[in-house]
Amino acid sequence: MKRKSLLLIVPLLAGALVIIALLGQAQEPRLDPDAVYEVSWVADGDTLTAGKLTVRLWGVDCPELAQPYGRAAKVLTSYLAEDKKVWLRVRGQDKKGRTLAEVILPDGKNLSEELLKAGVAWHYRAYVKSSALAKLEKEARQKKRGLWSLAAPVAPWVFRHRPKPSKPASQPRLGADHQHEITVYVTKRGQCYHRAGCSHLSKSCIPLSLKSAKGLGYRPCSVCKPPRRPTKGTSGIGVGDGSTNWSGVSGRI
Ligand SMILES: [Zn+2]
Repeated sequence: MKRKSLLLIVPLLAGALVIIALLGQAQEPRLDPDAVYEVSWVADGDTLTAGKLTVRLWGVDCPELAQPYGRAAKVLTSYLAEDKKVWLRVRGQDKKGRTLAEVILPDGKNLSEELLKAGVAWHYRAYVKSSALAKLEKEARQKKRGLWSLAAPVAPWVFRHRPKPSKPASQPRLGADHQHEITVYVTKRGQCYHRAGCSHLSKSCIPLSLKSAKGLGYRPCSVCKPPRRPTKGTSGIGVGDGSTNWSGVSGRI
């Protein structure tokens, strides 16, 4: 009797497991282990070249390069993904023929989510309804991270459709701030920041504003002795909650 019931239960269990596995696949697009691509170029915060594909990040819209925090978004995407092998979860194509995809970083993090957390991206809610992405944007807004520290942030989709005649008076403060920022350089794995041309920059050379380098915990190099203080007029750094604060990242790339 016992043996007979076991014989019945085992196939039932196996069937249930198969169904659970299939349900899981239906919810999440499959992450093909072969869908690994090396990121060779970052055009801006939400556009990059992976393998032969031009990828537009799914679910987020970063400020344009001409907008405040547009360069910060590009710096963060470069820092996290450039020259790295990433996984793509392809979601479709956009009107320009670019591959719409989620980019999964080597440490398993989702690039779109990291941009939202840092306050250098908007949840692209017109195209993607995602409560998870909406929540990350809301948290960044509440903590005034990145672009959410601005008095009146302009959504990139609004900026792209702005009337062409520019009004130079519309963003006077940021322009002034950025002009006075000092650019320093960091390496991918080092813990110090450097002047341009330092011998420690031979492997990689990532530009950052001095303010951001200090905010991210980099120390001044003892060899090239880069400047230690941002120029006067720049505001304080660090939100103090232990997370990366990218506000003010502007370096020339
Ligand atoms: Zn140095």
